[in-house]
Amino acid sequence: MKKLSSILFITLLTVACQQTEPENTEVISVMESEGSVPELLPLVETNTIKNVILLIGDGTGLAQITAGQYAIVGPDGLLHMQTMPVTGFVKTHSSDNLITDSASGATAYSCGLKTYNGAIGVDPNQVPCKTILELAEEKGLSTGLISTSSITHATPASFAAHVEQRSMQEEIAADFLDSGVEVFLGGGVQWFSENQRSDSLDLLGQFEEAGYQILMNEQDLQNSDSDRLLGLFAEDGMERNEGEPSTATMAQKALDIMSKDEDGFFLMLEGSQIDWAGHGNDSEYLLREVEDFDNAVKAVLDFAREDGETLVVLTADHETGGMTLQQQYADGDSLEIYWTTSYHTGTPVPLMAYGPRALEFMGWRDNTYVGQKLSELLQVGELPVLLED
Ligand SMILES: [Zn+2]
Repeated sequence: MKKLSSILFITLLTVACQQTEPENTEVISVMESEGSVPELLPLVETNTIKNVILLIGDGTGLAQITAGQYAIVGPDGLLHMQTMPVTGFVKTHSSDNLITDSASGATAYSCGLKTYNGAIGVDPNQVPCKTILELAEEKGLSTGLISTSSITHATPASFAAHVEQRSMQEEIAADFLDSGVEVFLGGGVQWFSENQRSDSLDLLGQFEEAGYQILMNEQDLQNSDSDRLLGLFAEDGMERNEGEPSTATMAQKALDIMSKDEDGFFLMLEGSQIDWAGHGNDSEYLLREVEDFDNAVKAVLDFAREDGETLVVLTADHETGGMTLQQQYADGDSLEIYWTTSYHTGTPVPLMAYGPRALEFMGWRDNTYVGQKLSELLQVGELPVLLED
């Protein structure tokens, strides 16, 4: 009798659960696809690479991209990032954990080596490692970093700074001063301002002395004709306020400036807050961020098609949220997003490429391979390189 009542209880519980969505489930509406099915970009025949653009969707796995596609262009459409003709997968584990964070994930791309979670441009023994951006600077190329987080956040930091822990954002901002990077665009003015830094260092003044124009809003960005920019459009991460540039606007400005360099350029652009939406299990936030990132991808791909000598690689550092797409509580054509965690997961992330030598990025690759291969193809040197013993 006791057994029977507990079976009944479980059955009732199951029925109750099926009627209301659990907390980690959200139903989103799906867009109706319009017009003809978009085509993939063609393979580029030439082997000449002058410029490399690395696009990182932080926390952007297959489910994030697919949800974005369903919500923005519908089941038969393709996001701009999905038109990149070469695809592969990236294994994301770090040196001390099967689940990476953004710091070790980005350092695998920037330095071409595995390191521990939290490390910014240093190896597992905390020895600084040279980054692809630094190699490009030494060879006289222009370089740029764009993010929608603070520009001192883990992903952009790993390309132009060397510190033991990602939380050392004041040190990271100071490291940027000597990096030679032409274009910094993102948030994070608090790490540069003498009024907010714990050491009262006037980094904004020092950047100005070093020839950078400081930009605080979209108007500044549009009006600027300087070729050295420090754009800090928010206290911390971009807040999507009026007056802030979109990621596509930042990308366009960076391309306008850097494409003037006859020696070529290296640009890293991060859609940082796709990850934050995953941590928050917030589907609407996620879809807005995927769309903002994809609009920037369009600006980049348009440039690369026109230019013909630009290699574009798009990937993620890891997946965030253990996001799955299902239809248990959704009806008809709507889509239900189910989050299985509020942290990162270890599922491999997609790798996409367009431009000369794009085929080098098909297959199942380690994250360190991406950094090593990009550096080799841009002909700026071999990675990994340790800077001191
Ligand atoms: Zn994260």
